[in-house]
Amino acid sequence: MKIDIISLFPEIFSEVFSSSILGRAQKESLVTIKTHNLRDWAIDKRGTVDERPFGGGAGMVLRPEPVWEALKEVRGDDKDCLTILLSPQGRKLEQRKVEELSLAKRMILVCGHYEGFDERIREGFDQEISIGDYVLTGGEIPAMVLVDSVVRLIPGVLGKEESVKEESFSEFEVGEEKKRLIEYPHYTQPREWRGKKVPEILLSGDHKKIREWRLKKAVEKTD
Ligand code: SAM
Repeated sequence: MKIDIISLFPEIFSEVFSSSILGRAQKESLVTIKTHNLRDWAIDKRGTVDERPFGGGAGMVLRPEPVWEALKEVRGDDKDCLTILLSPQGRKLEQRKVEELSLAKRMILVCGHYEGFDERIREGFDQEISIGDYVLTGGEIPAMVLVDSVVRLIPGVLGKEESVKEESFSEFEVGEEKKRLIEYPHYTQPREWRGKKVPEILLSGDHKKIREWRLKKAVEKTD
């Protein structure tokens, strides 16, 4: 997968993207992540990308031309590329959406700042995505959230393929049905800690019973 991110603060991403699982995924060429500075498409030599809003009001609005030109240039001739505007007004990012995005070959994410974008830029994007019903100062953290959640679903990114199968919000088989559940509880050493014991069933070695117990706990946690 190839991911391009257009932002006014591209330097914010380096630490997060070069560390741990995302860093390894890039080293192993499972994903390529490139950041671009929106100011490179400013409308003048002073680096202007925003203006005061028509009609008055606080804050600066990102002009449509730099966003449009950046998107055009970064996309190039590639028609098979998902363009995503990060915005609190967009569709909420949920695991189902993350799974869908993880199948994309290429995506371009555009991060806003200040008051956000000129309204006219919205229709130039395939999707508008929000990470939740709250407002952040910029689209950089939402872009990190989206990239992290999507990249970990790319086959080979996580060590054991199994580890993405039964996780919170993924589909569990409950009888004949598939249901999205919160994951069952995990325990590790020590067997007893501050008077709290690991459930006996997990020490039993009976995998069928363990599986049934885990499913029951997942259903209980979800309700
Ligand atoms: N004035 C906008 C509004 O009320 O809808 C909010 C603008 S916000 C301060 C600046 C930028 O941060 C947005 O353009 C967007 O890119 C990003 N942003 C803030 N909250 C977000 C969220 N919950 N999900 C995705 N992006 C968000």
